[in-house]
Amino acid sequence: MKIISIELFAVRLPLIKPFIISYHTYVDMPSIIVKVETDTGLVGYGEGTPDEHVTGETWESTFTILSKTIGPALIGENPFNIENIHTKMNQIIFGATTAKAAIDIACYDLMGKATNQPIYNLLGGRSHDSLEVPKVISILDPEVMANEAKLAMSEGYKSFKLKVGTDKNLDILRIRAVREAVGPSVPIKVDANQGWKTSSESMYVLENVIDCKIDWIEQPTVASDIDGLKEIKQKTNIPVMIDEGLHGNKEMHEIIVKRAVDLINIKLMKCGGLYPATHLVHQAELAGLTCQVGSMVESSIASAAGLHLSLAKKTIQSNELVGPLMFSKDVAKLNYEIPYVHLSDKPGLGIEIDEESLKSMTYDYLKIEAK
Ligand SMILES: [Mg+2]
Repeated sequence: MKIISIELFAVRLPLIKPFIISYHTYVDMPSIIVKVETDTGLVGYGEGTPDEHVTGETWESTFTILSKTIGPALIGENPFNIENIHTKMNQIIFGATTAKAAIDIACYDLMGKATNQPIYNLLGGRSHDSLEVPKVISILDPEVMANEAKLAMSEGYKSFKLKVGTDKNLDILRIRAVREAVGPSVPIKVDANQGWKTSSESMYVLENVIDCKIDWIEQPTVASDIDGLKEIKQKTNIPVMIDEGLHGNKEMHEIIVKRAVDLINIKLMKCGGLYPATHLVHQAELAGLTCQVGSMVESSIASAAGLHLSLAKKTIQSNELVGPLMFSKDVAKLNYEIPYVHLSDKPGLGIEIDEESLKSMTYDYLKIEAK
């Protein structure tokens, strides 16, 4: 099986309502969908959803890197040679993990289709009985967040992820308001998204919400401050999760050596796809760390990829693959039954791409073929 063409679709996925986190407000999600065709007639789909604040890649740069730098070099490659494909991509360009993830996901979709297996069977099989998703709540006024949480409970959600990281006193009120709204036993995870600038600011918030019994605090320091995470971990019993500060093996090595965190948030866009993600999962398992698979608010393509990984690895104990629930239009359909999401056992990603919908959201298109 050889790759004969790679099509790129620069899409903007419309959000039902704006998504507000400490460093940005999104009204829609720019993403790059890739369609990889092989000489056997099989077609695989991948997706790269860039977050310039996290990996330094933009919508435009991801499209350009795929069209000019990575894509042409992969024509003629066998998608099964995923280790070599990553080696080649890493030799061609440093970083650019979102662009690499798009190719990686399409290769796994093709491997699954070629072997007639869902991707999770290529990664370890069904390690979990079911996959549950949390309700993710944007940064808003405390009472608005509390009302959203109550409404979500009535819709069937069993856990929450709160976005905070603006004014520290307001953040305390946000966490308290949601805890009061949902009762004492519903799991609440809190993500500061680097919004607190010093470890003392983080500790101030954490000490004032200790009775709220949050599951963990995610990225309570700026991304580069791994020592700050370690300091917070040593000062509180609230488990600490790294997200923006962890991309690939370099940071993974550092957090393990320093014993800086309790949990890691893996995103395919930060590490370069499923293949490098499995390396992170195995290192985490070795070091006794628990994993989550998060997302950049991706369409059903990259979300499905993350779900296959989540299902296959026992060390991955949570996921936040809720992008498809936030879009008013998508390129495929994933089977959410709140609070669960069910993966199909069809080959590859196990999703049906709606080409019409894909085209209707496409702002830029390019096809790479052998010259
Ligand atoms: Mg996060």
